[in-house]
Amino acid sequence: MTAASQVSRPAVATIRTLGKVLSAVLAANRFCVVNYHRVLPIHNPLLAAEPDVATFSWQMEVLARCFHVLPLREALARLDAGQPLPARSVCITFDDGYRSIHDLALPVLRRFGLPATVFVTSGHVDKGNMWNDRIIEAVQMLPDGPLDLRDLGLGAFSLRSLDDRMAAIGILTERSKYLPPPERSNVTERLAAMAGGSMTPELMLTRDMLLNLDRHGIEIGAHTVTHPILTSLDEASARSEIAGGKEDLEAILGKPVRLFAYPNGKVGMDFDQRHVAMVREAGFDAAFTTAVGAITPDQDRFQLPRSRPWDRSPLMFGLRLLRWLAQGRPQ
Ligand SMILES: [Zn+2]
Repeated sequence: MTAASQVSRPAVATIRTLGKVLSAVLAANRFCVVNYHRVLPIHNPLLAAEPDVATFSWQMEVLARCFHVLPLREALARLDAGQPLPARSVCITFDDGYRSIHDLALPVLRRFGLPATVFVTSGHVDKGNMWNDRIIEAVQMLPDGPLDLRDLGLGAFSLRSLDDRMAAIGILTERSKYLPPPERSNVTERLAAMAGGSMTPELMLTRDMLLNLDRHGIEIGAHTVTHPILTSLDEASARSEIAGGKEDLEAILGKPVRLFAYPNGKVGMDFDQRHVAMVREAGFDAAFTTAVGAITPDQDRFQLPRSRPWDRSPLMFGLRLLRWLAQGRPQ
């Protein structure tokens, strides 16, 4: 291990050896996409799915040492042109547009020379926090005791321990996710009022940060204006969310925005064929889901899979990516 390395030599050797075996049997026409949201300064048990910066850093080191990381648009262009991709090709993406991508992830990406794409919810640039973060923040701040949200159809909870709060956050997030946006706002407003106001600093990217990411070669993709579940909207609203997010970002960046990621991204549940057509009509070149698998030439360019890696060791993280590559298209 070099002084700066966080990944052991045996882990790198094992991933590389298995990767070479896999590359020998797979056609050079596939890549997989890893999908992150936030990167945290330190581990937070209430946000257990989000890596802290140390974890993110070793994950990027594994990618840099054992895989070939390409810009997403270049990987797609090679597939379209029928050109071979390097063995073990991977692309890196982030959803929603968190400030920590600029402040914490960008320095790590630059250290390892890795390209990435950030899918930004345009309505949150320069203002406000996402609804799910407002739930986490409020439940974190509420005093010990009962939390009764039965009048909103969300149930009753008892907040006594960290586990209680984690469970309540999970249930409230799942139950609020599919509410129409005005009802979802009622939930976050009620919780914020009960928690006694906001203490969390703004979590989302500013305009200047967005421009700075772009200057450093990080591609910006669209992710709607307000991050609704598209299937919960009427068609006119869905169309305006999809096209509006693109227009907002293009106005900030002064260049076309070509890639789109569906909010929440579950095929057939969070979006359907109507939204696939809308994304195509809005002028995007490709769109991404949250299905597990590799991207291969035979897939619909407007329903390409991406997955969130959650492994806690470099070896398991590397093996998971190899498994996604071997799996090919989502089953
Ligand atoms: Zn999202």
